[in-house]
Amino acid sequence: MAKKDFYHVLGIERNASQEEIKKAYRKLALKYHPDRNPGNKDAEEQFKEAAEAYEVLSDPSKRQRYDQYGHEGMRGTDFRPFTDVNDIFSTFSDIFGGAVGGSIFEDMFGQQGRQRQRSGGGAGSDLKVRLKLTLEEVASGVEKKLKIRAWRKCDTCGGSGAKNAGSLITCPVCKGSGEIRQVSRSVFGQFVNVAPCQNCGGDGRVIKEPCLTCHGDGRVQGEATIKVSIPAGVSEGNYIPLRGEGNVGRRGGPGGDIIVAIEEEPHSVFTRNGDDVVLDLLVGFPEAAMGGEVEVPTLTGRARLKIDPGVQSGRILRMRDKGIPHLNSFGRGDQLVRVNIWTPTSLSARDKQLLKELASSENMNPKEGDRSAHSDKSFFGRVKKAFS
Ligand SMILES: [Zn+2]
Ligand SMILES: [Zn+2]
Repeated sequence: MAKKDFYHVLGIERNASQEEIKKAYRKLALKYHPDRNPGNKDAEEQFKEAAEAYEVLSDPSKRQRYDQYGHEGMRGTDFRPFTDVNDIFSTFSDIFGGAVGGSIFEDMFGQQGRQRQRSGGGAGSDLKVRLKLTLEEVASGVEKKLKIRAWRKCDTCGGSGAKNAGSLITCPVCKGSGEIRQVSRSVFGQFVNVAPCQNCGGDGRVIKEPCLTCHGDGRVQGEATIKVSIPAGVSEGNYIPLRGEGNVGRRGGPGGDIIVAIEEEPHSVFTRNGDDVVLDLLVGFPEAAMGGEVEVPTLTGRARLKIDPGVQSGRILRMRDKGIPHLNSFGRGDQLVRVNIWTPTSLSARDKQLLKELASSENMNPKEGDRSAHSDKSFFGRVKKAFS
């Protein structure tokens, strides 16, 4: 089935600002929120569609990809269509909440949004961590240690939240099952309705005397150091989820994830172009005229590069496999070296004398027909090819 255009889904113009995108999404999310449309499959679909559109358009790098390549452009990114409404809650409440500031869902659904998650098994929330990488680190892959502040299991009570073993008692309401069964009769027959016990939150146990360290929460704020392995070839906007390493849940509930968001630091000499890297190289005029070999920096050190006699400014020389490894396949990109002829800026009297002599040679200046050589279509074709 063909996917709907994301701008169309949110009902916004293609040049909509981030604020307009957020506003449009908020409106739709409220309209189609499952709590307002219980059992309405159609509303659920619209709710999912809006969330997908928002996920892509609210992220500048994903939005750029989408603008350029459409839905096809989402392949190879971390973007996955939502299949479960609950994923939408966890994705957005976590990515936009917690570490990075106000949650859009908190604004929208207030306390209700959070309670919803809590009763869903007591699992902890996710944490988003930004990780800046140099281009060298991207090229080689790297293992990083991240210091994070997160909810950690309380050591005093081992996460139970109880002062001691005796202060954790079986819930008197549900008798430890964590469920309340209600039988109702109607003309269609007998129904058994099973709901989580309100008294113990479905846990089956209640705390008579809470742990003094965590006051019954079973967790405390703490710092932790986590290791993350970054594969070679990642890009800005990629996410690496560390399952279960995020905030632990209350009373021994399982941990959320840490979502490591990759950011690239600008490089002092290289520019990334997909998996290729581009280097601007200055070449002196004599070297350009006579050819030679120069040493150029690469992402892994230095390498020799042959310059053919008569190389022109703007020419792109390709150093095979000196770029960034492909993330999802074998091989790697190239290093593209753009030749720039350097013009001397200070000349001695003797330099001037020699240049004057040279200038009189008919080989030293472009021929009439060559003066506009750079507007030649084949030149741009060559550049385009080198950069594609
Ligand atoms: Zn405790
Ligand atoms: Zn209970």
